[in-house]
Amino acid sequence: MQKDHFFTRRRMLLAGAAALGAAGTAGGVLAGRSQETTGTAAPAPVPGPQARQALKGSTFRLQPLTGDGPPRAAPRKLKVRREPILRISGRGRQMMLTFDDGPNPDYTPHILDTLAKYDVRAMFFVCGECVADYKELVARMADEGHVVGNHTWTHPLLTTLHRKEIRSEMERTSDIIEDACGERPQWFRAPYGAWNRAAFQLGAKMGMEPMAWTLDTTDWMEPGADTIIDRVESGAAPGVVVLSHDAGGDRSETVHAIREWLPYLLDSGYHLTVPRRRV
Ligand SMILES: [Zn+2]
Repeated sequence: MQKDHFFTRRRMLLAGAAALGAAGTAGGVLAGRSQETTGTAAPAPVPGPQARQALKGSTFRLQPLTGDGPPRAAPRKLKVRREPILRISGRGRQMMLTFDDGPNPDYTPHILDTLAKYDVRAMFFVCGECVADYKELVARMADEGHVVGNHTWTHPLLTTLHRKEIRSEMERTSDIIEDACGERPQWFRAPYGAWNRAAFQLGAKMGMEPMAWTLDTTDWMEPGADTIIDRVESGAAPGVVVLSHDAGGDRSETVHAIREWLPYLLDSGYHLTVPRRRV
């Protein structure tokens, strides 16, 4: 009975969206509503060609990266990309900060403290096996407005795995992120930046866009905090996505460096943003 209700409602919304056209509010409303039905066990009715057109044309899919709130979660199939997103678009001096491989109790809280001090949001690409140990840190990320992304369960080189193994790495991680913060991730980053077709296809199927980076701080090489600071400050530019790590080794240099380069970026007029896919 409940399911029938959902389906009827969905059909109505799809029909309404088709009539109104794809742009503007129709796309946004449709996105929000159609997601409600994705949890049902039975297959959803196939929308007619007009409705499909409306879905396809929705403008919410990858908006310029603005806004502070965490995106509303709901897996929905996306277009399969051939390359990951490397930088952000949008006007002005916008940059994005990303932290990979965590959470880690020795470093992640310090990074979160610094971000909170300057009222800045970032993306955290977490590994499932770390989330299993420190779920509360992932909950804190989400509570404080950061975007939590999927970085696989064990951080393998995906290009050496079978599709089934890649699926398991990604799916389990999305599951535990949802457990930790109540929402499934909408972003995926391949370990080592090693993408393959399966990763793009599976990510799209799971409702995740592939996000890479522009500027590697090389903090994973532990080159000294000064080198990290210099890399970020000299590499800063509009659209740049910065890669740092809050786990996977001794990240005290990362923790110290961000206390220097973050206020520098803000003083230089950069707006540090997180992506918002759905409006
Ligand atoms: Zn990584």
